[in-house]
Amino acid sequence: MLKSIAVMTSGGDSPGMNAAVRAVTRTALHQGVKVWGIRGGYHGMLDEDMFEMQSKDVGDIIQRGGTFLGTARCRRFTTPEGRMLGYKNLVDRGIQGLVVVGGDGSLRGASTLSQETGLPIVGLPGTIDNDVWGSEYTIGCDTAANTIIDAMNKLRDTASAHRRIIVLEVMGRNSGWLAMVAGISGGAEYILVPEEPFDLEEICENMKAEYEKGKRYILMVVAEGAGKASDIGPIIAEKTGIDTRISKLGHIQRGGSPSVIDRVNASRLGEHAALAIISGLSDIVFGFNRGHVVSINLHDAVNNKKTLDPQLMRLAKVLA
Ligand code: ADP
Repeated sequence: MLKSIAVMTSGGDSPGMNAAVRAVTRTALHQGVKVWGIRGGYHGMLDEDMFEMQSKDVGDIIQRGGTFLGTARCRRFTTPEGRMLGYKNLVDRGIQGLVVVGGDGSLRGASTLSQETGLPIVGLPGTIDNDVWGSEYTIGCDTAANTIIDAMNKLRDTASAHRRIIVLEVMGRNSGWLAMVAGISGGAEYILVPEEPFDLEEICENMKAEYEKGKRYILMVVAEGAGKASDIGPIIAEKTGIDTRISKLGHIQRGGSPSVIDRVNASRLGEHAALAIISGLSDIVFGFNRGHVVSINLHDAVNNKKTLDPQLMRLAKVLA
């Protein structure tokens, strides 16, 4: 049994990270284990910005987006010297294990740290992109998808009133999951994702034909990895001759009070992470498979690429 652990959030923030940290902290305290909070991602580990947490330190945060511990991207941690310094700072405080909540990059860093130092590490997937291999869910993806749908409902009203085409750009540099689920649930006619090639000429021809048949408006969702709305919108306008507007949600998608699903799932994952690390397990990521919490090998999680569910891609086309 470990007696002292640390928890941190890293990389891009996502709604529900707070719920995860709260669950890790309170589960560990419940087991009589000390918990340190590391501020500002790997920066905090290197700059000794960490504090021992009590239950009240994680009070009043489950409803908040972002991460009260702060998060960052840390270049120094990508060097072996940086990681050794971070490890030493943990050991100096008697910290015997670490829980990292973050995306693909943060988990990759965690994997390297554990390989180099032998420090027990458990990861939790925290990213709105839902792109961590081995898990059907990542903390924050549900809230982000709901934020996009909310925007789509509003865009639909104005698109319909003016008979416009609206191109909405959403986050997802390498993963089209957000665009796909938001597009399906928001009723988009076209969804462009980085995982699937598309022919803009052909799309424009189809749009024209649909308008000629009486279609009032068209919504297109574009994952940023598939293209920029500011590039695609003007091409559509020119080729179709239809009034076309663009919208980009940007960082609005990262924020907001976490949904019920993100709060409950993050809490469940946080509990599993705390119990696992305390009992001496290491090099695993907890995620979900068919609605159940599962453990995934940390190195497999970062060395494999999650693919977009082909059934979702097919469904999007059928329903468009
Ligand atoms: P995310 O976790 O959201 O994918 P990043 O990819 O920016 O965000 O990663 C967050 C941080 O994790 C980086 O700033 C860096 O400190 C660390 N990291 C990412 N990749 C590696 C790597 N290959 N080796 C060591 N550390 C890494």
